[in-house]
Amino acid sequence: MKTFKFLCLASLFIFGLSCSDDQENGTNENQIPGNNLSLGQSAHDLLANDIFTQLEVEIVYAEGFAPQENSLIQLKNFLEQRTFKTNITYIERQISSPSGAPYSIEEIRAIEEQHRTSFNTENTISVFVFFANGDREGNQENQITLGTAYQNTSIVIFEKTIQDLTQNLGAPSTSSVEVTTLTHEFGHLFGLVDVGSPMQTNHEDQDSQAHCDIENCLMRAQAEFAGGVMGMLGNGIPDLGPECIADLQANGGR
Ligand SMILES: [Zn+2]
Ligand SMILES: [Zn+2]
Repeated sequence: MKTFKFLCLASLFIFGLSCSDDQENGTNENQIPGNNLSLGQSAHDLLANDIFTQLEVEIVYAEGFAPQENSLIQLKNFLEQRTFKTNITYIERQISSPSGAPYSIEEIRAIEEQHRTSFNTENTISVFVFFANGDREGNQENQITLGTAYQNTSIVIFEKTIQDLTQNLGAPSTSSVEVTTLTHEFGHLFGLVDVGSPMQTNHEDQDSQAHCDIENCLMRAQAEFAGGVMGMLGNGIPDLGPECIADLQANGGR
C-alpha cells in the first residue's frame, strides 16, 4: 500500500515537472494541496494560516433550500473563533434542483463535480457546501442524517431534512439545527476526532469513529442525526468541548 502511494506521488511529481515548462513565472499549481483528498487531510490547512491565509466557502443550494442568513453569520463566527484565517468569505449560488433524492454520497459527489467553481488557490483554501433538496439515502427512523463531511473540503447539508424536522410547532428553529449541523461538519473537516487532528487526550467515542465522547460536545455523534440534535438543542446550540478545542490548537487552530 505504501509503495503504491509512493508510486502515485512519484508519478504526480514527474507530471508536475513535465508541466512546469509552460508556467515559468506562475505558481506551480501542483504544489497547492487539492480539494479531492480524503476527509481530514486539509485539517491543518483549514485551521492555520501558514499556507492559506484565506478561506472561501462556496454555498450551493437548490431552489427553496438556501440556508438562513443568520446561520451563515453564526458559522462565520465559529470559523473565526477556531481558525487563524485573516479573511473568510462566502460565495452563494442557487442551482436548478438536481433530481435523484434520496441522495447517496456518490450522487452528492457528482453534484459537486458539476457545480463546484471554487478551488484552492495560492492564498485561499476553498470549502464546498451543498444544501440538498432531499434526504440522505439509507435514513432509518432512529438515524436521520442531517449532514455529512465526505471529503477534505466538501460538505453536504440535507436541508430538506432539516426543514421537515423543524416545521412542527415546538420544534427547534431551522437556524439552530443548520448551525449545529454546519459547525459539526466543519469540525470533521478540521480533523475531529482523530481524523486529521491527532487526539491530545483520549476522547474518541468507542462506538462512533471520528466522534467525541464528552457530554454536550458539538462533536458528539448524535449532533449529526435528527433525534440527537433535538435532544442536544435543549441546552442551546452545542459548542466544542475543551478536549476537541485542544486537538485543534495542537494542529494549528485557535
Ligand atoms: Zn459527525
Ligand atoms: Zn469534543
